[in-house]
Amino acid sequence: MKVMITGATGLLGRALMSELSSSDSLDVIGTGLRRARGAIRRLDLLDSRAVKQFVESQSPAVILHAAAERRPDVSENDPVATRALNVEATQTIVDVAGTVGAWVIYISTDYVFDGTSPPYRPDAAPNPLNRYGESKLAGEEVIRGAAGHCVLRVPVLFGPVESLEESPVTSIARQLLAGGAVTLDHWAIRYPTSTDDVAFVCRQLIERRRDEPELAGTVHWSGDQPLTKFEMARAIAEAWALDVRLIAESSPPVGAPRPQNSQLDCSDLERIGVGRRTPFRTSLNASLEPFRP
Ligand code: NAP
Repeated sequence: MKVMITGATGLLGRALMSELSSSDSLDVIGTGLRRARGAIRRLDLLDSRAVKQFVESQSPAVILHAAAERRPDVSENDPVATRALNVEATQTIVDVAGTVGAWVIYISTDYVFDGTSPPYRPDAAPNPLNRYGESKLAGEEVIRGAAGHCVLRVPVLFGPVESLEESPVTSIARQLLAGGAVTLDHWAIRYPTSTDDVAFVCRQLIERRRDEPELAGTVHWSGDQPLTKFEMARAIAEAWALDVRLIAESSPPVGAPRPQNSQLDCSDLERIGVGRRTPFRTSLNASLEPFRP
């Protein structure tokens, strides 16, 4: 079964490549843009003709659509470019998926919710607070507009990173390495989730759909440990035995508005035996190890 992964050079896409390539029954083809090299093919998702040609020539059975603009502050400043990638390119993918008969898994975000009444079931009313969340919700609607596809919402991700800045979780370590007193958000409650676990869930969904062609709709996956950035910083400082003074900031952070607690209810996938949760500290230590001072 051929699986095409968009965003294969990104934080989640690399984990998807690694997890799915380890399956003997899947033939994986990854695409990226600026970092595409080696086995990863360069494909600009904003070029709808190129996308159509590529998908028609590859004829994948599954398209795992992970490419997106996912930095809320960038989206806030450039909503047009964000929409082009997160919504319009998603429409191109859904259209060509219809032509070749591919099943699409669209990776979405807990930021479609406003964070005022957690936990959120997949059918809870979305109410994004920022333009990133709005664009991802519009991308979801494109997916739901064509029957039979899947939306997988996940919260803040971390995993093996190319630089500490790549994930909002590991970027805390960069702040701590500067030493001295560090002020961290103690207002927003997050459920940091390992990219390896999300990739495992995607593999399970793909394998399951082989036997259950009706598998479709909106589903959630998330780590189950609630942590503020201040608490994540404590875990990093402990793991690295850093001599820093952590200061908790209990009011909302500056920048694009964010939900305070957009905990995702994952019971639908749990009930059907899909999911894996690596303990936060285990994944965190593995992600940080190459950067240990
Ligand atoms: P990422 O690390 O920022 O990677 C973005 C990917 O999109 C890269 O592979 C990039 O390719 C590709 N891309 C950007 N513009 C493109 C274009 N015009 N054409 C083709 N490819 C393009 O993102 P991520 O963190 O892996 O996010 C994956 C998915 O998870 C996204 O849908 C995101 O909304 C969702 N999500 C992420 C988080 C998180 O904390 N990271 C949380 C919740 C949901 P190049 O780098 O090669 O240019």
